[in-house]
Amino acid sequence: MINNDELHDEIGDNHIASCATNPVREDAFDITDDEKIEKIKKDVESILLTLGMDLTDDSMKGTPNRVAKMFVKEIFGGLNPAKKPKASTFDNNYKYGEMLVEKNITLYSTCEHHLLPIIGRAHVAYISNGRVIGLSKMNRIVEYYAKRPQVQERLTMQIVQELQKALGTEDVACVIDAKHLCVNSRGINDIESSTVTSEFGGKFKDPQARREFLDYIKLETKF
Ligand SMILES: [Zn+2]
Repeated sequence: MINNDELHDEIGDNHIASCATNPVREDAFDITDDEKIEKIKKDVESILLTLGMDLTDDSMKGTPNRVAKMFVKEIFGGLNPAKKPKASTFDNNYKYGEMLVEKNITLYSTCEHHLLPIIGRAHVAYISNGRVIGLSKMNRIVEYYAKRPQVQERLTMQIVQELQKALGTEDVACVIDAKHLCVNSRGINDIESSTVTSEFGGKFKDPQARREFLDYIKLETKF
């Protein structure tokens, strides 16, 4: 008989997500960011004290507060729907009807199973059906969904779904190539391996469009 802790260890160790949306509770935003920072500060303090750290040491004195602020304001700041970037779109006046690829978007996220960094690149593409979106908005959408405890597959799908909604087209694709420090720096300790996930919507399901997108990703950018 496998007990619950073992089952949950197994799920986390294998990086399996249990749902397509982030498992956020209904009451997640009942308290303010500042109240969260105060609570997390005490929690981090407690973890460090349990580990035996001397928190009167000058170097560590500020750590609980620093970590709490970083959790709420930075690395998990994308949990709050109020912080979702406005994805304003514009008329495609110049009638550009080909694929647009925004590649090598820097990605910093956090694995929800180990709370360790996921570092990599996201490549996003769409084919306009009349609307276009600002280039930096694509980076911002990636950043917003990355700043949560995440699973790479879910993150890839969320980026595609958000752009599909904003652009009013199914023709959106995303590929993410990322290193998970929970794999690279502990556990199996494989520093070389990376994880590639992809989501191809609409016209990108066509092998030729998919190939074109993947070929653009491989282009070396010289300037
Ligand atoms: Zn992990």
